Amino acid sequence: MSTDCIFCKIARGEIPATKVVEDDRVLAFMDINPISQGHLLIIPKTHYELIMDMPADLVSHIYSQVPELARALVDVTEAQGVNVLQNNGPCSGQVIPHVHIHLIPRWPADGLGFRWPAKSADLDELQKLAQAISSAL
Ligand code: 5GP
Ligand code: ZN
Repeated sequence: MSTDCIFCKIARGEIPATKVVEDDRVLAFMDINPISQGHLLIIPKTHYELIMDMPADLVSHIYSQVPELARALVDVTEAQGVNVLQNNGPCSGQVIPHVHIHLIPRWPADGLGFRWPAKSADLDELQKLAQAISSAL
């Protein structure tokens, strides 16, 4: 629990939110400043700043909500795609330091775009990185 955290306050019912569904560990609610119609957020009710801080079973539980919520979102909005986005750290775009998954309905001409500046990889470097990450597990 974090006393100053806005999403903890929403989870505790201290400030209002437009709730979609909840259980004892997870809450889904509408984003107050949606980037597309139907944009919603899924949070753990317990405060964690980063997904790397969370126990795997709680990560599994919050992500287990994604398929059904995304299906309902597509049914209701008639979206043709959905971005599932979860930012960790300010440089990744995280503004609220309480883990949240964005579900963002998408349409071909919604104007949001998608920046993905892919480059060719050096295969030796890829191998070294893969080995280093594997060893760090
Ligand atoms: P981030 O950039 O941290 O990944 O996303 C934070 C999201 O939380 C933003 O999309 C923002 O609109 C949303 N948000 C911020 N404050 C509130 C709030 O008080 N209520 C709700 N429902 N959403 C919020
Ligand atoms: Zn919090």
